[in-house]
Amino acid sequence: MSWETVIGLEIHVQLSTKSKLFSGGSTGFGAEPNTHVDLIDMGLPGVLPVANRDAFFKAIRFGLATNAEINQTSTFDRKNYFYPDLPKGYQITQMAMPIVGKGSIRIETDNGEKLINITRAHLEEDAGKSIHDLFEGETGVDLNRAGTPLLEIVSEPEISNAQEAVAYFKAIRQIVTFLDICDGNMAQGSMRCDVNVSIRKSGDRELGTRAEIKNINSFKFIERAINHEIARQIKIIESGNSVVQETRLYDSIKNETRSMRSKEEANDYRYFPCPDLLPVVISDDELNEIKNNLPELPKQKIKRYVNEINLDESEAKIIAASKTMANIFEEACKKTKDSKLVAKWLVGDVSALLNKDNIDIEESNLSSSNFAKLIERITDNTISGKIAKSVLEEVWISGDDVDKIIESKGLVQIQDETVLEKVAQSIIDNNPSQVKAYKDGKDKLFGFFVGQVMKETQGKANPKSVNEILNKLLK
Ligand code: ADP
Ligand code: MG
Repeated sequence: MSWETVIGLEIHVQLSTKSKLFSGGSTGFGAEPNTHVDLIDMGLPGVLPVANRDAFFKAIRFGLATNAEINQTSTFDRKNYFYPDLPKGYQITQMAMPIVGKGSIRIETDNGEKLINITRAHLEEDAGKSIHDLFEGETGVDLNRAGTPLLEIVSEPEISNAQEAVAYFKAIRQIVTFLDICDGNMAQGSMRCDVNVSIRKSGDRELGTRAEIKNINSFKFIERAINHEIARQIKIIESGNSVVQETRLYDSIKNETRSMRSKEEANDYRYFPCPDLLPVVISDDELNEIKNNLPELPKQKIKRYVNEINLDESEAKIIAASKTMANIFEEACKKTKDSKLVAKWLVGDVSALLNKDNIDIEESNLSSSNFAKLIERITDNTISGKIAKSVLEEVWISGDDVDKIIESKGLVQIQDETVLEKVAQSIIDNNPSQVKAYKDGKDKLFGFFVGQVMKETQGKANPKSVNEILNKLLK
């Protein structure tokens, strides 16, 4: 029997607003527990929430960038459940009328492009965090995260395998980072997703019963959890049983999913309109203002890089794939006219180092200002391309300032022609047989002389000068 997989993702994106969705509490990450907590975040009686406009504007940017319907009037509802890190006993969310309606996004996989429809994207507040490993036999509650604005992006069940799910997640991450509405930091939980998986007989139109795997925050785990879940469901069905609709947890250490609760035990959230908040109305002017100020997205960047800066499309695509990479490129281009050179370094050496360490550029030690300086030192002839490579490798490890590395290691390029001429002459004097062979027509030997000068100067000789001098001396 052949089976077909159906997947739908619910992605929670933490919006990078300064303050929380309904209070003035700070959204900063990594503070001492319970120091970014307002009376509203604590859910004290008598306090009232006030909706954060910036969160709406950021949500709308997402909607516009995904060709979605924007609901200029949207409302809030209460989702009731009990948990220690949710002091109010309910979460404020948008159930009946979300800010962003139907939209879509294009993904790219090995099988080409595919359009994934997005059902909706709504605003809601995050809960706090329960901390289980700090106090023996007790659970701590940290409310710093409580009330942080989340945009929950719900896809249609149109994703067909783990690779597409990862591509979809990456596409969403790319868009929210380019829109500057989320920092995309998955390790800090700025993006997390619930993965809904079901299988059905190939060709069937009806959906199978799904399991929902909660709270995954890495590409690798999305892929593994899905593949594990598909295998589990096939096994159940092929042994004559049926999949139960339930919520499962992915255990990354054991690489398996485990049941949290089945449909029968599912919470009854008793949604109802939140009486504390009026509908939020976005005016035409506000909407137009956001439309007219949308940041440049990857597709537009690629076009501009190709048409205006003359990059190859393949280079442009690599650079525009990540917001950080594009920033580094654009910063360095401000310091030099040679944009092609900047691109060559990013697509070549920098990408090679990223691949070697298997990291994203934002996880590296390379800052845009330090990279710009490296390019500047190549174009102003302070260092040769070869030395620049070793400087980059040093920056990669230590993050140290480019000029500091050049100075402390004495890497400044030798430009002085009299010095270079002396070195070249001594190499010619010491290699009479090669000189003879060269003069007899063995042109290839020219490289030998260049190599020797480079060796003698520890790679610091300006290659262009070396070529000129050797040409002159070997005539
Ligand atoms: P809930 O809010 O209870 O989780 P929704 O109907 O809003 O349920 O669906 C949540 C997600 O699950 C959506 O992304 C949707 O595409 C996906 N989904 C729904 N049914 C299935 C199914 N049978 N198989 C896979 N995914 C599904
Ligand atoms: Mg769900």
